[in-house]
Amino acid sequence: MQFGKKKVLNNINLEIPEGSVTAIVGPSGSGKTTLLRTLNLLQLPSDGSIAIDDAQIDAQHIERAKIKQIRTKSTMVFQQFNLFKNLTALENVMSPLVYNKKTKLNEARKTALAVLKDFGLEKIAAQYPVTLSGGQQQRVSIARAIVAKPKVVLFDEPTSALDPELVAGVLNAIAKLAEQDITMVIVTHEIEFARQIADQAIFVEDGEIVDQGVAKELLSTQGNGRIANFVNSLV
Ligand code: ATP
Repeated sequence: MQFGKKKVLNNINLEIPEGSVTAIVGPSGSGKTTLLRTLNLLQLPSDGSIAIDDAQIDAQHIERAKIKQIRTKSTMVFQQFNLFKNLTALENVMSPLVYNKKTKLNEARKTALAVLKDFGLEKIAAQYPVTLSGGQQQRVSIARAIVAKPKVVLFDEPTSALDPELVAGVLNAIAKLAEQDITMVIVTHEIEFARQIADQAIFVEDGEIVDQGVAKELLSTQGNGRIANFVNSLV
């Protein structure tokens, strides 16, 4: 993956098992966000291929229809929530059902309300994003990301824009999804959290996956290698 002449990702060979949680960790600027954005083609790869489920795209043959196919199988939760400001919380959560899956309004409303309820957000269903706390907005955006049952949910540092007291609520919401066997890939600096909920972890440095393995082992604070030093700098 390159921006202009600058190569940002190199030699990436990554497999995400269905139903698993993968944590992506690494120093600032190492390429974590770019890797995540490439997985659902918000960033188009300059080389190689990406496959989700039965949809595959090759960097040499990028077609609009293929991009759409991959994008409907994955959703992204952003640092800054990215809710539609002119829609209520409920309408935000309904939106993927209405626009992508063409579900009838009544049915979409019912499904979206049930998901909001799961997240303890039914009381704020009629509110607009500007009236919600950052933690509530992020939980609404997570509800929106899962409502249409994508194959994989991608989280880009989902708690990094939150005030410290709001972080736990959002991490709990993500942990609840992990219990439901939803396939998730999470870029995070919350090492303790990643150790607890992730099955596998990958360590990215200078645009390459330099190590990957069982999260509890790879993200251990023990030892004095490069990764342990990095992990210890965050805990
Ligand atoms: P952080 O933890 O600070 O968010 P990161 O590991 O997610 O960092 P990326 O945001 O993926 O890193 O950035 C990787 C490299 O790519 C950086 O050098 C960054 O400056 C560069 N980069 C990212 N997006 C663009 C872009 N749109 N145009 C040019 N360069 C970019």
